[in-house]
Amino acid sequence: MAEPMGFFTDTTVCIGCKACEVACKEWNQLSATNGGQNVLSGQSYDNTRRLDGEHWRHVKFVEQFSEDRKEARWLMMSDVCKHCVQAGCLEVCPTGAIFRTEFDTVVIQSDACIGCRACLPSCPFGVIGINPVTRTAQKCTLCYDRMKVGMTPACAQACPTASIQFGPIATLRKKAKERVDALHAQGKAEAYIYGDEDILGGLNSFYLLVDAPEVYGLPKAPKLPTRGLWTSSIFVAFTAAVVGLLGIFSFRERKAKALPAAKGGGGEA
Ligand code: SF4
Ligand code: SF4
Repeated sequence: MAEPMGFFTDTTVCIGCKACEVACKEWNQLSATNGGQNVLSGQSYDNTRRLDGEHWRHVKFVEQFSEDRKEARWLMMSDVCKHCVQAGCLEVCPTGAIFRTEFDTVVIQSDACIGCRACLPSCPFGVIGINPVTRTAQKCTLCYDRMKVGMTPACAQACPTASIQFGPIATLRKKAKERVDALHAQGKAEAYIYGDEDILGGLNSFYLLVDAPEVYGLPKAPKLPTRGLWTSSIFVAFTAAVVGLLGIFSFRERKAKALPAAKGGGGEA
């Protein structure tokens, strides 16, 4: 296996230009929203709104205002599939269409996807969507086609501020730690890394954030849905066993009661 590769996204230098979104759509030939008739959200300068089957990158705008609205802060974060080391989507796919590559990234093979949607709720980050053109589940491939020939993913290449950095995970983790230390030294104690090993074994697309994960729409402690499935499966099996045993006992009891009556009935005849 080649070296694990991924993204380190430093949200403090994102300027919200959405060049990464555009580069992703262009390289992957993703269709325009609603056939090009996208309605503006009206709530924000963000009209992409979310990640889905035809938006594999999404730059979130988090707009924060003080009570008197004299102070404002915009947090910007280019979101994408996290290429989790423990990936819920990969575990539930019934056809094996989702696989882990030699770069430790997670890719959906569109031609093996049957569009059953099992992977959609299994992603704790809500990354996957059904592409309306192909009618299959789709998400970021970390530009697997480009990586295989030694190219940088389109989004990282297009980013003008190096907010999205691509490379070997070990190198990126080191860079991220240095950046957090530098910010702390500048008095920005709120800076931290989201996506270390404590989250699903590590996210191969991890982030430097300056506010709580929930502020960016990220789960604080994401869980593998399959763990819940195992618990519920055991519960269902246990319940079925108890119901089955109760049924057997009740049948035997009824049979035991019926036997003397049957014997008595035979004597009279
Ligand atoms: S972020 Fe979601 S879609 Fe991406 S690898 Fe993790 S579970 Fe799968
Ligand atoms: S790595 Fe490629 S597919 Fe993934 S968001 Fe970037 S441009 Fe899109």
